[in-house]
Amino acid sequence: MARWFWILFIALSIQAQELRIQILGTTDMHGHVLAQDAFSLQPIPQGWAKIATLIRRQRALNPNTLLVDSGDTLQGEPINYVRTMLRPELPEPSIAIMNALGYAAMAVGNHDFDFGLPNLRAAEKQARFPLLSANTLDRTGKPAFLPYRVVVVAGVRVALLGLTTPQVPTMTEPGNIEGLSFEDLVVTARRLVPQLRKQEQADVVIALVHSGLGSLEALDRAEDGALRLAEAVPGLDAIFAGHSHQAVQREHKGIPIVQAQNYGRALAQVELVLQKEQGRWRVASRAGHLLRPDEATVADPEVLQLTEALRKATDRYLDTPATELAVDLDSRWSRMEDSPLMQLIHQVQRQAAGAQLSAAAAPGTRLFIPKGPTSVRQFYALAPFESRVARIRITGDQLKRYLEHGARHYAYSWEPDLYNPTVPFYQYDMVDGVSYALDLGKPVGSRVVNLRYQGHPVKEEQSFTLALSTYRLYGGGGYMEAIGFQGKAEWVSEASQRNLLLAFVLAKPTLNLTATQSWRTVPYLDRQRVLDLAR
Ligand SMILES: [Zn+2]
Repeated sequence: MARWFWILFIALSIQAQELRIQILGTTDMHGHVLAQDAFSLQPIPQGWAKIATLIRRQRALNPNTLLVDSGDTLQGEPINYVRTMLRPELPEPSIAIMNALGYAAMAVGNHDFDFGLPNLRAAEKQARFPLLSANTLDRTGKPAFLPYRVVVVAGVRVALLGLTTPQVPTMTEPGNIEGLSFEDLVVTARRLVPQLRKQEQADVVIALVHSGLGSLEALDRAEDGALRLAEAVPGLDAIFAGHSHQAVQREHKGIPIVQAQNYGRALAQVELVLQKEQGRWRVASRAGHLLRPDEATVADPEVLQLTEALRKATDRYLDTPATELAVDLDSRWSRMEDSPLMQLIHQVQRQAAGAQLSAAAAPGTRLFIPKGPTSVRQFYALAPFESRVARIRITGDQLKRYLEHGARHYAYSWEPDLYNPTVPFYQYDMVDGVSYALDLGKPVGSRVVNLRYQGHPVKEEQSFTLALSTYRLYGGGGYMEAIGFQGKAEWVSEASQRNLLLAFVLAKPTLNLTATQSWRTVPYLDRQRVLDLAR
């Protein structure tokens, strides 16, 4: 009897010294609430309404739960534009949802700067949790946001360290980040993690990183650096990554790295088992998982209720009738030859900027606007970002280098793949206002042939005005570096590229667009091959 009593007593006391904590992470929600595509209205198992259901279900299994987010929360969906620009009196939708769910912290993402610093600061005020970024520094070199937060969960001190991709300046307008600089992730984390362990007495240290996995060979200040963090920063227990919109569930040096894809298509989970040794909690095991909502996951009623007024206002805006299109706009063909869709984008840019030439990437690979009556919803899908239009002056030589830089997008013509996977479609600009061909049998850097302006070969020293997005102007896709452009824009639009496009299609009762056949590839990419090989 006494022996059994002691075995039971020991078993109970061991159990009392062990604790499970779960940390649940979202990232790159970009304002997605409902389980559908806002433009095509096709159902997709994603968004806050389904994720909130998963979160509540997981928390019911273990009350020792922390909720975290890795950023890119405030910009993306039309709902974010309508709230910021048209209905600023309504609460920021994602922050309202995160408040209701009881989030502990969110890392600041690059897109969270897109509506300007005052908008980000207002969201910070509305949030009942801190927006963290330890490597975003102000003019004096001090952190511009709270760098970390320590939360006590069932007696365990959990430090949440926030980090932001250092490449923010290449991804948002300079005016949005005035006076801010971004330190390398590893440099900041190496300085702070020992401080969290010693001064803050943290038992657990979790990094919330608005940066993707990247590679171990990545350079300092690389856009994606989560793997480098795991490699080079001792003392981390788990990393919640973000930014690259990938689903990540892996381990490096025993540290789980999880990334909940994007738009609420997944929920990242890290389970920690802690044991008490000599009065202090130690992590005995760590495991990372991704949980996914599906068709059967019900929408959370509180999320629907919190966003109802804003969703209705957004639908009214998106359903505003636009022009009557005389031609289909089909993005599937936009990378094989000039197309009516690209003509629309080029015409808007050239007209707004008063430029001879226009450079732009395809707005997507599967966008389709059928001819007939249209609405704002369809055109919004062509320019979901907040970038503006700029006019720069370049030489004929720079124009050729610009086109060569874009032509990296294609694989060699004899390879089975059509496109080079390291240059995504949105980094491939086509130029309107000149004629040229891209010889895909030639190596990168010497593919542009027969470049002509108004029928005459372009001379190296010739001068052109070029309309392009401010995303390009400020470094996106590496075009300005590739052409050695160090000047200033002659002009930058007040309105966003999207609002210029919408003004264009709202002003015209009917709209016909004709492809100019100004450029083509050699060999010519026939439509069946594009469909067979398109990614
Ligand atoms: Zn991002």
